[in-house]
Amino acid sequence: MLQIQQNISLKNFNTFGIDVSAKYFVEINRAEELIELFMDSQWMEMERLILGGGSNMLFVKDFDGLVIHINIRGMEHRINHQQVLVVAGAGEVWNDLVNYCVNNEFAGMENLSLIPGSVGAAPVQNIGAYGVELKDIFASCNAFEIATGTFKTFSKADCQFDYRDSIFKNDMKGHYIIVSVKFELSLVADVKLHYGAIKEELINRGITEPTIKDISQVVSYIRVSKLPDPSTIGNAGSFFKNPIIPKDEFNIVYEHFPEVVNYPAGDGFVKLAAGWLIEKCGWKGKVVGHTGTWHNQALVLVNHGGATGEEVYRLSSQIIDSVYSKFGVKLEREVNVVD
Ligand SMILES: Cc1cc2nc3c(=O)[nH]c(=O)nc-3n(C[C@H](O)[C@H](O)[C@H](O)COP(=O)(O)OP(=O)(O)OC[C@H]3O[C@@H](n4cnc5c(N)ncnc54)[C@H](O)[C@@H]3O)c2cc1C
Repeated sequence: MLQIQQNISLKNFNTFGIDVSAKYFVEINRAEELIELFMDSQWMEMERLILGGGSNMLFVKDFDGLVIHINIRGMEHRINHQQVLVVAGAGEVWNDLVNYCVNNEFAGMENLSLIPGSVGAAPVQNIGAYGVELKDIFASCNAFEIATGTFKTFSKADCQFDYRDSIFKNDMKGHYIIVSVKFELSLVADVKLHYGAIKEELINRGITEPTIKDISQVVSYIRVSKLPDPSTIGNAGSFFKNPIIPKDEFNIVYEHFPEVVNYPAGDGFVKLAAGWLIEKCGWKGKVVGHTGTWHNQALVLVNHGGATGEEVYRLSSQIIDSVYSKFGVKLEREVNVVD
C-alpha cells in the first residue's frame, strides 16, 4: 500500500539544503507502484515533481503538489563476449552503479565517478564529466508514461541527447518517469585521459598504464579537491551550462578578451567556460548574504547556511546580468529551478 505523506520537509532531499516543504510526498520503491499511484485521479490532476537525489534542483518556495521520490533499486548485468549490458533501477545511487561496474571491470563509466544523484536522473540532463557523457554508454531506458499508465522503452535516438539535455528536459518533461536504465559497457577498456587534470594526476601517481579503477580513483580525487561536498556545504554542482555560441559571436568576445577559455563545439560553434566568464566578472569566492560562489570554482553557487532558494536564485540572476553586460553572452541555468 502506497503511503502518501503530507507537509514533508525537503531539506534532506535537495543537496542545496534549502528548507522548503512538499504538500504531498510519496516514495516509489517498485515500478508497478506508479500504476497504483495514478489509478487515483487526484494525483493525475495535481502538480507533480519527480525527485531523485535532488542534486540538480533549486527549490525557490514550498511545493504545493505531489513530490514523487524515486527509490527503485536493483542492478544486474549480462556478459556477451566483450560486451556487458548493465541494467539499474532509477533509484540506485549513480556512484554505487559506477563502483559496481568498476569493481567488476566493466569499462565505460569510470570518468563519470562521484557525480551525485540517481541513475534515473542521469539521462534527463545527459550527465557528463571528464570527456564522457551518459549518451556514450547509454543503451535504453524504461519509463512510465503518466497519461496512459503504461511503460515505454526509449532508445538512444529517442532520447535526443545533447549537451546537458535530452527529450526528458524538453517535450517529454513531466510526462514520463524513468524506472530503469540499460547501459552498454565493455570488458575491454578504452581509457579516456585527454580531459582535465587526469593525465597530470596519473603522472603524479607514477601510473603509466592506468586501469579503469585508477581512472575512477583519480577522477574522484580531482572532484573532491575542486568541488564542495554537499553534505557539508549545500550546492548543486555547476549552476550554469557552459554557453555554446556561434563562431561570429565568439569572434567579438575574442577580439576584446583574447584570453577567453574556449573549446570547439562542432560546426560553426564554440563552447565557452562559464566558470571563467563568472570569475572575470569578479564573482569567484564572493559571499552574498547566506549564499555565494565557491572559492575554487565560480560556476558553483553555494548555501553557506540558512540560504533561501530565493536568495540563491537572485544571486544567479545577478551573475547572468553581469556576464551579459561584460561579454554579451547569456548564461543559462543548468539547475532545475522549482518555483
Ligand atoms: C557537487 C555536485 C557535482 C555535480 N557534478 C556534475 C557533473 O560533473 N556532471 C553533471 O552532469 N552533473 C553534475 N551534477 C548535477 C547532478 O549530479 C546531476 O544532474 C544528477 O544527474 C542529478 O541526479 P538527481 O537524482 O539528484 O536528480 P534530481 O535533482 O532529483 O532531478 C533532476 C531532474 O531530473 C528529473 N528526474 C529525476 N529523476 C527522474 C526520473 N526517474 N525520471 C524522470 N525524471 C527524473 C527531475 O524531475 C529533475 O527535473 C553535480 C551536482 C553536485 C551537487
